This record gives sequence, C-alpha cells and structure tokens, in this order.
Amino acid sequence: MNRPPTTAGRALTVSATVVASAIAAHSLPALTAVGPLRPYLAPRLSGLGQPGHVALTFDDGPDPRSTPLFLAELERAGVQATFFLLGRMLLRAPSLGRDLVEAGHEVAVHGYWHRPMLLRSPHCAWDDVRRARDLVADLTGTAPRWYRPPYGVFSLSALSAARRLGLSPVLWSHWGRDWTASATPETVLRTVTRSPMDGGTVLLHDSDVTSAPGSWRAALGALPRLLEHCAREGLVVGPLRDHLPARARP
Ligand SMILES: [Zn+2]
Repeated sequence: MNRPPTTAGRALTVSATVVASAIAAHSLPALTAVGPLRPYLAPRLSGLGQPGHVALTFDDGPDPRSTPLFLAELERAGVQATFFLLGRMLLRAPSLGRDLVEAGHEVAVHGYWHRPMLLRSPHCAWDDVRRARDLVADLTGTAPRWYRPPYGVFSLSALSAARRLGLSPVLWSHWGRDWTASATPETVLRTVTRSPMDGGTVLLHDSDVTSAPGSWRAALGALPRLLEHCAREGLVVGPLRDHLPARARP
C-alpha cells in the first residue's frame, strides 16, 4: 500500500537526493572507469594502445613475500612490466622498489592507503596521491608517469590531483580476477584471454595485501602461460611506457 510520505520520510528522500547528486558530481569520471563501454568511451584510459603490443601491469606491491617471485618469473621470460605501487608498501620495502627499477620495470602510482577515492575529501585525495607519488620518485629514483586509483574508480579530486602531479590516469582493458579466494592459474588465464588482447593492458596483482590471502599465487601461476599465449599470438609484452603515447606534462 502506498502512503503519503511523512515529514521525516520527505526529509530523508530530499537528503538522499542531495547526497546522490553530490556523489554523482564527485564521481563523474567513475562513469567511464568501469563497465563494458569504457574501452569505447575512453580507450586511452582503458590502456588501449600500440597495436601488436600488450601492456602488463601489476597493482598493490611491492610486497617482500610475493613481488620477488614475479620479478624472477619476468626475468626468466625476458619481459618488463609496469608496477603500480602503494606508498605504504614501498615505505616498508624501499629496496624492492629499487630492484624493480634496476630490472628495467616501470614504477607507477596506485596511491598511499588503497582506500576508495570516492569516499575521500579533496584534501585527503590530494594528500594520498601526492604522498605516494613523492615516495615512488624519492625511493626508486624515477619520476612516475601513470596513476591508477584503488579499485579503478576515480573521483574528480583524485583525477585533478593526478593531473597536477603530472600523472596520466590509466586503468586496464583485461583483468584476471586474480584477487578472489577462488582464483586459480587456470581461471586467471581464461579470464584474461577471454577477449582479443592486441593493444590491451592487463591488470594482475603482485601482492595480496588488499585481496584474498595467497591470491597472488594464481596470478604468478598464470604468468608463464599468459606470456606464452601472447607470444603465440605474435604480441610483444611490455610496460605502459612502450604502449601508450607520451602526453605533455602540465
Ligand atoms: Zn589495488
């Protein structure tokens, strides 16, 4: 049965509308951050780049328990990748950040805390991206070029912070869903290769610090077969710097 809304009910409806509008305004870029239309609406943001090339990216490290194993596997395969680092992880393992750069990998910014940017104030968003960017630059000795927010969801504040810091936002076109407890090397490989990979950007995780314990093992197990798959398809795998055209810094 429909009843006329009470005053409290009306107030709730009004505040819900105001909150929803505020979130919508705050999260405008998030509309292109997720969903099947993103590659068409925002190809560069989705990491769609050089034909014949696949960008390999890892999020959430560096992690002393797992990142060295990814480094060893990549060295065995002679492949370089882009690692989106968390400031708080890098602070605990700065030498691992330097190892990444010394092995020829590219380091990029994933933020400091790994909290959803939509829930953070403009000041906190700026602080998070700036702290992470400065740590990556100072502790690895290289200036990062790319920013990928936690969960792949931007806020206007995070986007503007990244731009002010000279970072280009980039997400991914292919993921392995390697962060779940049920992920296995087989599911990761199947998920990543579900659609043609030419020109795409792959998201995997070299740490389980924000996901199911031990889930990095599924990504690590899938890696050699994924690289073999790309080789069979005639695709060169490398970091984002070889994949997306450079953009003028602000
Ligand atoms: Zn992450």
